[in-house]
Amino acid sequence: MIPRLYIIIPCYNEEQVLPITSGMFLTKLCSLIDNGKIAPDSRILFVDDGSRDATWQIIQELSKQDCHFIGIRQSRNRGHQNAVLAGLMEAKDQCDITISIDCDGQDDIDAMDRMVDEFHSGSEIVYGVRSSRKTDTVFKRATAQGFYKLLKSMGVDTVYNHADYRLVSSRVLHEFADFKEVNLFLRGMFPLVGFKSTCVYYERHERLAGESKYPLRKMLALAFEGITSLSIQPLRIIMGLGCLIAALSFIGVIWSIVVALMGDSVPGWASMTCIICFIGGVQLTCIGVLGEYIGKIYMEVKHRPRYIISERTFDDQ
Ligand code: UDP
Ligand code: MG
Repeated sequence: MIPRLYIIIPCYNEEQVLPITSGMFLTKLCSLIDNGKIAPDSRILFVDDGSRDATWQIIQELSKQDCHFIGIRQSRNRGHQNAVLAGLMEAKDQCDITISIDCDGQDDIDAMDRMVDEFHSGSEIVYGVRSSRKTDTVFKRATAQGFYKLLKSMGVDTVYNHADYRLVSSRVLHEFADFKEVNLFLRGMFPLVGFKSTCVYYERHERLAGESKYPLRKMLALAFEGITSLSIQPLRIIMGLGCLIAALSFIGVIWSIVVALMGDSVPGWASMTCIICFIGGVQLTCIGVLGEYIGKIYMEVKHRPRYIISERTFDDQ
C-alpha cells in the first residue's frame, strides 16, 4: 500500500515565512510522491491559528495555485497545541499518515523521507528528535533540557529533545481521538497511546524569517501544562511533605515535653508548642490525602480510554 500523507502545519502570524517555506514543503511532498513513497493525492494542510496578518490570504492563494495545498482556519488564536490537534483531527479520516511540523523551516524537512521509511518498516509513530541544540541560545538549551529531566522525574513519559515534529499514522490518530482532555501537551500524550514507535534524528536550524511566536511566557505555560496535565506527582509531593512534617512534629512534641519536664520553659510553652506541631502535621497530611483524591478525580474526568488494542488474530469489521 502506498500511504496518503497529510503534512500538518500550524501557522500563527507567519506572513513573512510562509511564502518561503510553502515552496520547500511542496518540493518535498512532490519528491516523496515521485519516489513512490507516498500517494499522489497527498496534501499539505495549513492550520491558520487565528492569525491577525495576511497568513490566511496567503494560504487561500496557495490552495488556488496548487491542489496539494489545502487550509483550515481556527475561529481565533488557540495556541500551537490546539492548532496541531485541529489539523490532525481534520486529517485523520482523509489519509494514512500525518506529519506535523512548524511552518518556520527550523525543523529539517529532509527528515521526512526517513520518517516515511520508518512507517514503511512498521512504525506507527515516528518522533523527530533534535540531535543537537547548536542554534539555540544557552538559556533556551539549559531550560529545555532541565524541563525534560523534570518531566521524567514527575513520571511523564516524553521523548527527550522531541518537540512536535512527528509522523503519526491515522490508526494511532483514531485511538488518540479518544483522549478527550482539553489541556493539551501532545508530545507527552502520544507515548500514552502506545503502538510501535521510533525516533529519527535531525539538526534544527534557525528560523528562516519572522519572529518566534513562543516567547518565554508561552514556553513556561507549556511547561506547566506538561506537568499538570500529565502528572499528579506534585500532589503526591504535598502528601510526602505532610508525612515528613507530621513525623518531625512528633519529635517536636516529645522534645517540648522533655524540656517542660526538666523545668526549662515558661508555663504554657510546652502545650502551645505541642498543639502547633500536632495541628501543622495533621493538617498537611490531610491536605495530602485530599490531594490524592483530587488527583484521582482529575485523571477520571479526562475520560481517557482504558485500553487500546493494537492487533487481533481475526478481522474486526
Ligand atoms: N504557532 C501557532 N499558534 C500560536 C503560536 C505558534 O500555531 O499561538 C505556530 C507557529 O506559527 C509555528 C509553530 O507554532 O509554526 C511554532 O512556533 P515558533 O516557531 O514561533 O516557536 P519556536 O520554534 O520559537 O519555539
Ligand atoms: Mg520555530
